[in-house]
Amino acid sequence: MKEKLGFVGTGIMGKPMVKNLLKAGYPVLCYDIVPEPLKELAAAGAVVASSNKEVAEKSDIVITMLPNSPHVEQAVLGTNGILEGARPGLLLLDMSTISPIVSQKVAAEVAKRGVKMLDAPVSGGEKGAIEGTLSIMVGGERAVFDQVLPIFQATGKTITYIGPIGSGGFVKLANQIIVAINLTAIAEALVLGTKAGIDLELMINALSGGLAGSKCLEQKRNNYLQHAFQPGFKVDLHYKDLNLIMEAGESLGVPLPTTALVRELFSALRVKGRGQMDHSGVITLLEELASVKVGKT
Ligand code: NAD
Repeated sequence: MKEKLGFVGTGIMGKPMVKNLLKAGYPVLCYDIVPEPLKELAAAGAVVASSNKEVAEKSDIVITMLPNSPHVEQAVLGTNGILEGARPGLLLLDMSTISPIVSQKVAAEVAKRGVKMLDAPVSGGEKGAIEGTLSIMVGGERAVFDQVLPIFQATGKTITYIGPIGSGGFVKLANQIIVAINLTAIAEALVLGTKAGIDLELMINALSGGLAGSKCLEQKRNNYLQHAFQPGFKVDLHYKDLNLIMEAGESLGVPLPTTALVRELFSALRVKGRGQMDHSGVITLLEELASVKVGKT
């Protein structure tokens, strides 16, 4: 029989992931501090809990998909949290992007109560979550990874065991360096071409087929064409990741000059009130600098 799953954090990513787990035949008990997505998931066949503690009490394996380190600490270690409801043998799969150092700390804390944890952040965006094609990068005990692999396979396509707890998080931070810089490079390129009078769609078609082509350009293509930047992945969350990256760079002695510059651009987006925009919206800053608008007018 399939394990009973608990799922905490049913936002942009968590909601479609729960739907894929239901489709794969898992019973899923969900909780989020915001009720709206829970109603939709109940209609799709999930059961709704009234606290994180209840999720842990009634599940064999709990998955968390929360914004940042403090949310994971609160949901797992806080009052009425997962650890309060946990029994020895419970498995905790944190799929959020958080500080790898915090992952190690939380894993050590839950281990005292016989709970084993993996850090398993994902890449692939909302589209990847909906289609079940996420790339999942996993840290923790290999035996636990082997046990829960079918669960990862229900939500993702590229599933990579990296090493000990926290190592999934470090790979995810590396991923976020590449995505943030790539989106900024795409933004500069499209603004330059637009100001030169080039047709945007033709330019994107040509770029996509060459070495400059990327998953970012492919997935965000319509955002640029439509000049529409609803998330997707919010600027606020990518800014959070850029700060985690800079912290990691500082503690490991790795200068990250280009990431530092891009972080400031994301900071500027937030100052301008665009924190809830999709991260491809970094192009709006470059447009302002060049006094030109890309895409649909
Ligand atoms: P989101 O803000 O849409 O969802 C997070 C959910 O967690 C919200 O519904 C919120 O109410 C809930 N939450 C917060 N604190 C809680 C608590 N204590 N208990 C229960 N629920 C709580 O964010 P998202 O876009 O789904 O991202 C989730 C994680 O996945 C983040 O770490 C993000 O960096 C990462 N991620 C996001 C994307 C993306 O494209 N959106 C892609 C890859 C990774």
